[in-house]
Amino acid sequence: MEAQHRVIDIFDTTLRDGEQAPGCSMNLQEKLEVARRLERLGVTVIEAGFPASSPGDLESVRAIAGIVKNCTVAGLCRCLERDIDAGREALLKAARPRIHVFLATSPIHLEYKLKMTPDQMLEQAVSAVKYAKKFCSDVEFSAEDASRSEPDFLCRVFKSVIDAGATVVNIPDTTGYAMPEEFAQLVRYVKEHTDNIGRAKISVHCHNDLGLAVANTLAAVAAGADQAECAINGIGERAGNASLEEIVMGLRVRRDFLKTDTRIDTAQIYAASRLVSQVTGVKVQPNKAVVGENAFAHEAGIHQHGIMANRATYEIMTPESIGIPKNRMVLGKHSGRHAFEERLKELGLNLENGAREAVFTQFKTLADKKKVVSDPDIEALVLGVSAAAPETYRLDGWVVNSGSSFTSMSAIRLRHKDGETLEQAAVGHGPIDAAFKAINRIIKKEPSLEHYELRAITGGEDAQGETMVRISWEGRRRNGRGVSTDVIESSIKAYIAAINALETLG
Ligand code: MN
Repeated sequence: MEAQHRVIDIFDTTLRDGEQAPGCSMNLQEKLEVARRLERLGVTVIEAGFPASSPGDLESVRAIAGIVKNCTVAGLCRCLERDIDAGREALLKAARPRIHVFLATSPIHLEYKLKMTPDQMLEQAVSAVKYAKKFCSDVEFSAEDASRSEPDFLCRVFKSVIDAGATVVNIPDTTGYAMPEEFAQLVRYVKEHTDNIGRAKISVHCHNDLGLAVANTLAAVAAGADQAECAINGIGERAGNASLEEIVMGLRVRRDFLKTDTRIDTAQIYAASRLVSQVTGVKVQPNKAVVGENAFAHEAGIHQHGIMANRATYEIMTPESIGIPKNRMVLGKHSGRHAFEERLKELGLNLENGAREAVFTQFKTLADKKKVVSDPDIEALVLGVSAAAPETYRLDGWVVNSGSSFTSMSAIRLRHKDGETLEQAAVGHGPIDAAFKAINRIIKKEPSLEHYELRAITGGEDAQGETMVRISWEGRRRNGRGVSTDVIESSIKAYIAAINALETLG
């Protein structure tokens, strides 16, 4: 019988801190897909957004709160009644809502950002927690920039907000400034000098400016923190947040030393990492711990020899433990439905019947064009079906003529959801511009193209191209994503996806 270990709450902020990082914005469908995945992963808390920051954010927190059943869903709020009202509204349907309020405690933030005295800060924090507590029994208070605050003042603030009803007090290393031993010391200090700390959980939220976010988090856990805030692939402001997969595997692999557990199903980690990378278009560096492409690749002969004799010689965890599929059976045009569905299962991609059918049809089409259909190809197909906005317009056909000494010309045919077929031609600077202009004529709008990115999903000359576009129209920004073995077609599809998001989401 093993000793009972302390269970650490994993608080995921991929959809809040992660999503606010440059290039990481997600549309509503993508956020819902990530939220479902986080629930399957078994995180304790999903921080779904910052409801008062925009109507779109409020809507997405509301939608996430509506579908998540087994995790607490948190909304971030400043210590202002109007923020907390927005948080309350967004979380009405949550099975387990949490209002997360924050206010800075460090001298530099108080003086230059908040222009408040410590006493004023304390008063505002307490009244915000009391106000939030009227609607929500679970209230987290974050002392922004805690690691650069006076420890005694931090304890005084925590004591007061716990008396006001806070159930979790968070110690963020907002600027990524702390060193592991110093940060652990701060956690111990808070435990020893806040006399009512037994009534709340201690949380930490570390940033990676010096590459120490995970080290600081694990040091804090060892010193007694109960909750770790983190994000998939470590995405987040600046150098990012502590990465979920590294914290979780650190706690799991060194369970003997840290004597803690989490509720995470680690076999879902790889699929979650891939999904976040796909929806944001932000790649994981190859040598990234746990989920990088090379994390389990053994190159040196001496290592390979050891691995063949016994994997434990150079491997402290197995690829299977984080859900990297063991079975590398190749899928191609001769693969049937059974093999395809097995692979979906291995990749942790659970789809409803209708969506599964649609993905299978697309898989067959792709397999006709491509010798080998890889896992990223399949993930791209699934994401295209599950995360796309409903189709107001669908691509029915296209022609683009392009060359070195002529203006590019395009003709595009779209089918409207009401059944009408619409066709237009245009000229432009290059094939993509010509194609987008023809689409603009059909939809009778001229959105501006804010971002365009093209990349290959897999290697080889028959690789699929993935295009990400961001358009804006009358102040609304929408993302679109398209995948095809033809880069012009993937661009056209991405543009139409963004237009569809504009049509559906308003
Ligand atoms: Mn942060």
